[in-house]
Amino acid sequence: FRVTLTPIRRRDKGVAGAIAVLQDVTEMEKLEQSRREFVANVSHELRTPLTTIKSYAEALDDGALDEPPLADRFVGVIRSETERMIRLVTDLLHLSRFDSRRNQLRRQNTDLSEMLEEVVDRFSFQLRQKAITVSVKVENKQNTAWLDRDGIDQVLDNLVSNAIKYTLDGGSIDISAKSNETGQLAIAIKDTGIGIPKKDLNRIFERFYRVDKARSRNMGGTGLGLSIAREIVRAHGGSITLESESNVGTVVTVLLPIVQEGGEPA
Ligand code: ADP
Repeated sequence: FRVTLTPIRRRDKGVAGAIAVLQDVTEMEKLEQSRREFVANVSHELRTPLTTIKSYAEALDDGALDEPPLADRFVGVIRSETERMIRLVTDLLHLSRFDSRRNQLRRQNTDLSEMLEEVVDRFSFQLRQKAITVSVKVENKQNTAWLDRDGIDQVLDNLVSNAIKYTLDGGSIDISAKSNETGQLAIAIKDTGIGIPKKDLNRIFERFYRVDKARSRNMGGTGLGLSIAREIVRAHGGSITLESESNVGTVVTVLLPIVQEGGEPA
């Protein structure tokens, strides 16, 4: 609590009493705390690739440039660290864009099969590289939806990219869309990947939270994919859930209220 005391003065300048105002600042402090953590995380995440780039540039300067095979490797590292920073900054921009919520949604009538097939097409190279098979199923009676296509594409890209990153070669991914009992559109992405240990499940949507930092890094992850997905889904009035079992696989389900064309969720 923040306490403010104001004296009540009598006419003769003496003090007759005081007004005490008690203000609950718990929420404010929590917000401030999470803002501080976020800034610390962002700084750390940007500092790591920058430090790497600096040391490899110095090594090139110190003579590695004269050894072509070594120079090639160092330039490769500098390039991939730069790409990681670009991804991170792009992700941060996405987060801040959807922080300001639903008034920015540009909904359009969307053919669900087409949308899901296009996501698969965007990842066809990685899928082929890892020999992962994909199936897409869309229920007939719910084959269109009124949604922000750019936003939901971003959600699907993040989820499918995770499913690929955390599934071993030769695995499979099932993508499906249907309306469920509660009248919502459920889009599920199911993989046969490494899964997520129980103890990490309730933190997985936090910004920058990763089960295995090194693995995520190697796969080009930023630790922001799931939090961005949740932000966008919430802006649609929906929710996102994740079920997972170690070494069996993961299912991420996006639930979106079914909105009439031209409408917004109630
Ligand atoms: P990242 O960029 O690290 O993938 P995300 O926010 O997308 O960040 O995911 C956070 C963490 O959740 C990942 O680092 C990974 O540990 C775990 N994760 C997400 N999706 C899956 C999945 N389909 N299978 C296994 N682990 C996953």
